[in-house]
Amino acid sequence: MSTHVKKGDTVVILTGKDRGKSGEVIRVFPKKGDAIVKGINVVTRHLKPSMVNPQGGRIQKEAPIDVSKLMVQCPSCQKPARMSHVRSMDGRGLRVCKKCHEQLDK
Ligand SMILES: [Zn+2]
Repeated sequence: MSTHVKKGDTVVILTGKDRGKSGEVIRVFPKKGDAIVKGINVVTRHLKPSMVNPQGGRIQKEAPIDVSKLMVQCPSCQKPARMSHVRSMDGRGLRVCKKCHEQLDK
């Protein structure tokens, strides 16, 4: 299964507490259908005290977000847009912005 978002894309969050924010996709998990977006869906994890960090502590980390909640922001027209999926001459899947018809994947 492939997703409509790819690593390096700028995406806009459609629902949830980060609705309306945008960020860069750091990682995509195609099998689970979710992705990690920089600065989005940040959760605080509590760390147990360890040898390295005897006090324990808290870290802030992005949690994966379902790709259905994300919309790719087109780098050409700078708008969140739906993508058409086309196949290139050499068989690769390419995405084309439905608004400005620019190709996203070079
Ligand atoms: Zn566009």
